[in-house]
Amino acid sequence: MARRIETTCVQGGYTPGNGEPRQIPIIQSTTFKYDTSEDMGKLFDLEASGYFYTRLQNPTNDYVAAKIAQLEGGTAAMLTSSGQAASFFSVFNLAGQGDHIVASSTIYGGTYNLFAVTMKRMGIDFTFVAPDCSDEELEAAFRPNTKAVFGETIANPALVVFDIERFAKAAHAHGVPLIVDNTFATPVNCRPFEWGADIVIHSTTKYMDGHGAGVGGCIVDSGKFDWMAHADKFPGLCTPDESYHGITYATKFGNAGAYITKATAQLMRDFGAIQSPQNAFLLNLGLESLHVRMARHCENALAVARFLSTHDLVAWVKYPGLEGDKSHELAQKYLPNGSCGVVSFGVKGGRKAAETFMKHLRVAAIETHVADARTCCLHPASATHRQMNDDELRACGIAPELVRYSCGIENADDLIEDIAQALETLR
Ligand SMILES: *Cc1c(COP(=O)(O)O)cnc(C)c1O
Repeated sequence: MARRIETTCVQGGYTPGNGEPRQIPIIQSTTFKYDTSEDMGKLFDLEASGYFYTRLQNPTNDYVAAKIAQLEGGTAAMLTSSGQAASFFSVFNLAGQGDHIVASSTIYGGTYNLFAVTMKRMGIDFTFVAPDCSDEELEAAFRPNTKAVFGETIANPALVVFDIERFAKAAHAHGVPLIVDNTFATPVNCRPFEWGADIVIHSTTKYMDGHGAGVGGCIVDSGKFDWMAHADKFPGLCTPDESYHGITYATKFGNAGAYITKATAQLMRDFGAIQSPQNAFLLNLGLESLHVRMARHCENALAVARFLSTHDLVAWVKYPGLEGDKSHELAQKYLPNGSCGVVSFGVKGGRKAAETFMKHLRVAAIETHVADARTCCLHPASATHRQMNDDELRACGIAPELVRYSCGIENADDLIEDIAQALETLR
């Protein structure tokens, strides 16, 4: 019986047997014991499934990864130590030196830096295209050595909605998968696989954990991309891995399991960006209430966005759920039940006014964080981007007066009253 997403949030991934713990056990063990060397050898040959060392796999992590795979409608998933590790693995599992990736230009700044600076140094080239680019521009971005397309369902902090179906079609026309960072929407509000995406990644640090308790990431495979049909592009999946006993992932594990098995056996083995079982346990507690929290985050954000949009001291408001927003049409298509809890807006009076406004907030805290149960906000011009002058800021799409306001799950009237009194100090 297919279960609805709310039930999967609570009960997915782990089904205890008779007399077993109701809550997922935290397997706080680096290693696992075997009776014979033959038994262990089978694990190393990927002939039998089982655990041997927590740098590669741990049962607690796998329960939680299985829940996220069910939430997204995928076939396999792995947890990573952070969202950054998930972004890196998702691309590096497909591309190496001499390869090329097409990415949306409005992605999270940390991802942009990972791609444009660090992975470029590893010999992978990226072409960034505006999410609303013309068909000709999108077509022109592809090269014979392109291995994937990458975008964010709702971009952090640009809050632009990604046209998943359109980019999936373009990727597939070129025989490559679409990878979507679904952090801000979460599977409660959007399931990118239903629109043609092939791989989904998350910074679980945000809404999935939801309480600011643990940094983490996740990668999910839809199981739909046919690697062998494009074997020339993906030798890592479609030819024997000599570093892993000559296994060919795509033939041994099929479309459903090849991508995540390779990422575990190769990338986790070599890079070790594993999530700790403790953090996986905390992440699971967050997932149990994800569907309840997302509804409240979105309700609060829409109320705050509507209030801001009518206020005379506010210059502009950006929120995909707001009528008239540039992304509103795409939001109605991909995010009919709500987008996210983050609203960005500009206060009249520029950089100085934004600083004054934020200093007077009492409910919202100033933090380098978003997507948490507690309302928080950030003024990029005086924090993450403080080395830039106003002109440099505008050149990268961040207005000096921009406030990124992440609505928590408190009472919306308290958030609005707090914003109102802080705005009054600007008169
Ligand atoms: C925060 C974030 C990341 C990076 O995740 P970390 O867990 O901080 O490493 C990636 N993508 C998006 C959309 C994010 O918001």
